[in-house]
Amino acid sequence: MNLIRIAIITFVVWMLIRMVKSYHNRIGHSRRQERDDIDTMVQCARCKLHVPKREAIRKGNRFYCCRRHADTDRSP
Ligand SMILES: [Zn+2]
Repeated sequence: MNLIRIAIITFVVWMLIRMVKSYHNRIGHSRRQERDDIDTMVQCARCKLHVPKREAIRKGNRFYCCRRHADTDRSP
């Protein structure tokens, strides 16, 4: 009876440790991703202005500073 209780407690503690570790990994990853998006600057393919990646308009593998430049860029 005592052995079963110890096994159950050990299992519960192990599950809690796993849950906490997984929670910390998720929080750390999303913060890192957020920071990368803020810090990365991209250049407008039309006017060469640098804008934060999260504010840029993406069209294929090119970035633009605004919708108008994305729509009017005719370079190959
Ligand atoms: Zn532009």
